[in-house]
Amino acid sequence: MNITEAKKALQKAQKIAVLTGAGMSTESGLPDFRSNEGLYNPLTADMTFHVKMFRTYPERFYSAIKPFYEQCVNTSPNAGHLALAELERQGKSVFIATQTVDRLHQKAGSSIVNELYGTIDTVNCRTCKRHFKASDFAEFFATGKVPYCPICGKILKPDLVLFGERLPSEPLEKTRLAFMGADIVMVLGASLRASPVNTLPGYRFKETPLFIINHAPTQYDEVAEFVSHEKIGDILPQLIGVA
Ligand SMILES: [Zn+2]
Repeated sequence: MNITEAKKALQKAQKIAVLTGAGMSTESGLPDFRSNEGLYNPLTADMTFHVKMFRTYPERFYSAIKPFYEQCVNTSPNAGHLALAELERQGKSVFIATQTVDRLHQKAGSSIVNELYGTIDTVNCRTCKRHFKASDFAEFFATGKVPYCPICGKILKPDLVLFGERLPSEPLEKTRLAFMGADIVMVLGASLRASPVNTLPGYRFKETPLFIINHAPTQYDEVAEFVSHEKIGDILPQLIGVA
């Protein structure tokens, strides 16, 4: 369908399930720490942010994550994030599953955000199992120093899914259910290469339209009802009728 038809279909839909990836945030100028365009050496990034690196050299890990953390805190939502939040204000049920960890969907005002790869917003102690606000340890992130648990004194870990770690099952399960119950499924800024995220669009019902906006083609383009390789911040506001 063309953009006018896609816009009409979206107007009729009540339940929208959305998967967003790194491309959602790169339009805000924020690099993805997993694909590491710009911020980190792509040859070593998967080791720098590997869970073994964190366990073996936490000082180096925190020193390496400092610029990414700073950028997340200082970055604002873009037109794409704001359009999704607007869709919710129009009275629709908007479920967002995201591969991003930067909280930009929440900053934009979206209320249902399912973080598949965790979040920069909290840290956890793997010994006493408590979670803390990362902002309570802001001076550690700002200086690249290792934060310690105020209860038991062990090293705190960001609530991010690092290389070498499995994605938590609960957000994935919620996303599969949301995709099954959706009137429209949208994929925004996700290249759909990494497993198990690349299986998620397959959970929608056959008659449920799939919309994809991503800078590069994906393996689902052929079966999608609407595909654009333009910027999310340009196309999504047009679809939602706020441009
Ligand atoms: Zn602890």
